Amino acid sequence: MIITKQKPIAEIIDYIKNDSSVFLIGCAVCATTCKTGGETEIKLLSELLIAKGKNVTGWDILNPACYILESKKLLRRKEKEISAAESIISLACGGGTQAIAEMIGKSVYPANDTLFQGEIIQLSPQEDRFEKKCLMCGECIVGVTGGICPVTRCPKGLRSGPCGGVNKGKCEVDPERDCAWVLIYNRLKELGQLGNMGIAGKTRDYSNERNYILVNKR
Ligand code: SF4
Ligand code: SF4
Repeated sequence: MIITKQKPIAEIIDYIKNDSSVFLIGCAVCATTCKTGGETEIKLLSELLIAKGKNVTGWDILNPACYILESKKLLRRKEKEISAAESIISLACGGGTQAIAEMIGKSVYPANDTLFQGEIIQLSPQEDRFEKKCLMCGECIVGVTGGICPVTRCPKGLRSGPCGGVNKGKCEVDPERDCAWVLIYNRLKELGQLGNMGIAGKTRDYSNERNYILVNKR
């Protein structure tokens, strides 16, 4: 899931300081789960903006915002409200916000910061934790690192083994955090795959970098 966090409200309001009217768009998938872009968050933001003297012409929730074909169809039902707004606030992730900007010929401002792709860990019936697990680097190496991603879990993103700063298994950048490479070493040892420590360190092939891929739907 794409994990998002709402921006400080002052930053959102600053984006629209010269606009008197806005339309709000959320996303029914990741942003709703993160509680950054569902109906509750849209209504809260709407109330806040109205209290600040803005005219909220309407809102909609796309499913998902990044699916342009379906989103365009959904937004047709809100054409009047969108055209009455001077700008749009997106409560989707960065990808969804860019899709909205492509679909609507108005300024589109993000209400959220997009952090990472992560796992949802339930801490209690009332509280979840979103854990950073993937930065979508385009060349996944967890098959040789015991299923632990060093790109994401090492603050320096080191793919080639630990830096010199590891201290009693903890990371020099954040002593609260286990060193990713110690975790990898221990996991590989458990799996009887310590020989992978050498190959895990291959450098990244940047020719794998893509800004699109094609999917054959047949
Ligand atoms: S190596 Fe890490 S960042 Fe890259 S795709 Fe795999 S999990 Fe994601
Ligand atoms: S101590 Fe470990 S996790 Fe921290 S920066 Fe160095 S290699 Fe990465």
